[in-house]
Amino acid sequence: MPLPEFPHAETKSLTSWSNFSGTIQKGAVPLYVTPLAHGPDLTAAGALAPQLGAVRELLRYCFARQLRLRPVGTRWSFSSIIEPDQVILDPGFMSGMLRVGPASLTPEYSAGRGAQGFAPFWICGGRTVAMTNVRLLEEGFCLQTSGAGDGQRVAGAVATGTHSSDLRVGAMHDALLGIQLVTGPDRCVFLQPERKPALSEAFVLWLSSVCGMHVQHIQDDALFHAAQVSLGSLGVVFSVVLEAAPAYRFVRRITRFEDRNDPALWRAIRLLDTGSLHPDRPHNPDHLDVVFHPYPESGKTSAWLTTMWKVPAPPVLAHAMPVPLAIASDVMSLIAGLFDALDGEITTDLTTPILAGIISDETEALYAEGDIEAYPGQLFGTNNLPAGSGASTEIITDHRDSGDLMRVLYEVLDQHSARGEHLLGAAALRFVPSTRATLGMNIKPLNAYLELPSIRNEGTLAIYDTLFDELERQGIAYTCHWGQQHGMDEARLRAWFGARVDRWKAARDALIGEDGKKVFSAKILEEVGLS
Ligand SMILES: Cc1cc2nc3c(=O)[nH]c(=O)nc-3n(C[C@H](O)[C@H](O)[C@H](O)COP(=O)(O)OP(=O)(O)OC[C@H]3O[C@@H](n4cnc5c(N)ncnc54)[C@H](O)[C@@H]3O)c2cc1C
Repeated sequence: MPLPEFPHAETKSLTSWSNFSGTIQKGAVPLYVTPLAHGPDLTAAGALAPQLGAVRELLRYCFARQLRLRPVGTRWSFSSIIEPDQVILDPGFMSGMLRVGPASLTPEYSAGRGAQGFAPFWICGGRTVAMTNVRLLEEGFCLQTSGAGDGQRVAGAVATGTHSSDLRVGAMHDALLGIQLVTGPDRCVFLQPERKPALSEAFVLWLSSVCGMHVQHIQDDALFHAAQVSLGSLGVVFSVVLEAAPAYRFVRRITRFEDRNDPALWRAIRLLDTGSLHPDRPHNPDHLDVVFHPYPESGKTSAWLTTMWKVPAPPVLAHAMPVPLAIASDVMSLIAGLFDALDGEITTDLTTPILAGIISDETEALYAEGDIEAYPGQLFGTNNLPAGSGASTEIITDHRDSGDLMRVLYEVLDQHSARGEHLLGAAALRFVPSTRATLGMNIKPLNAYLELPSIRNEGTLAIYDTLFDELERQGIAYTCHWGQQHGMDEARLRAWFGARVDRWKAARDALIGEDGKKVFSAKILEEVGLS
């Protein structure tokens, strides 16, 4: 059958498809559509009309035939949230970005956050976090928070609740001020909260002009908070407005612990009070995370505590942006080293001590002692994972359950290790404050995120499953990261999110209706009872 054509778009079909880590393998995808680049002047009337037109015509095609559409980011998600069906939209060239001008801001915002130095930036959904970081620095700003890598696209990162370990900001969705969604062939909306909106009517008029169609301005808490973490299922995220902070650098310090149960380490985790660990720095850090060795060796480090403070910094021009430092900011990049070290022998004859030694060596190399000062875009840098070989899950509990979470993890690791099944990675514990996003994972006042990235094998996946079941059996409430391998089902989702599940579904009904629900449906929604 001939491929359909859409204005200002490249169209092809794929014989097979997989995500970056290779956890999802699909056969043929009949239709893959990439809207082409926009012109150089982003501010001109109609500048984005061709790109938006391509998206609208693709939606018209899908709505008429009830075809499932998945917009993709960088395909970094490990979960079925990114699994396509018949049609993929690749918004990689939808990457425009501008600072929002003063006339487009409400007087309340300008007098409040604006006067404190914060600035909203309008960013199209296909732009990567890396390119966003570069542009922000050119203008003297930084993202308030991001993931520990920067390869994701902005819409993809926000759609799954991507976070780091910023103790004050929250996750990426918590810095959102507005979201532009294309919800159907002839409907485009700009959502912002009812209370204290940042963007004025002038902004939405400008957006309508640039997009060449009427963009409906909706100030509605329920819709906005649902769209903050949209799971790729509330329409196409054409653009967002993110609030950036004045440029800063992180001062990073690593503290090592031989005993993973060291009282000073657990005082830092429980109270987020690290004062006794850094008498020379009087304030508690802005960022705190801990990497745990899954198979600690006697006499060696079993936990690496990272503390980071934000310090004001001059902006640097893009051409002067230093080469990204080889500094890991979470354990993901450890996996690349492990993969090299294990070199394909991962399934045979591995013993716990050999693996433990490799993990120690790799982690020690990543978490060198001594202070480092770097921009977030340098610390949270590129992905050196080998494609097609990864696995990762991330479990979120109330911060007060951190001790139980880690206890259960070590019980499960020991149990599987006795059977010769190992996590081929490490465990990272990060902390994120509360969100208003309906399905943001961080709904408790403070949340603990336990990430377990690994080289993928049967043993790793079995460890994940046992951990999900064991947490439930021991009555420890949890949810899983939307973008990572998960153990969620309808009952588990409701146990964590409660009435938020109904609020998100109601917002979905209101935004995209029955036809839209078919087009923007996704396997993960069926798995967790959100469809
Ligand atoms: C190396 C690595 C490091 C990571 N580090 C972290 C971390 O530190 N913290 C963390 O929280 N997570 C982390 N993750 C997970 C990752 O951030 C998330 O899975 C994120 O969603 C990936 O973004 P993406 O651009 O690849 O989106 P994809 O995985 O391609 O897509 C994710 C979702 O977004 C939707 N989507 C994408 N674009 C659009 C659009 N324009 N409109 C509507 N929907 C859209 C897709 O349909 C899908 O539902 C990491 C993953 C990897 C591989």
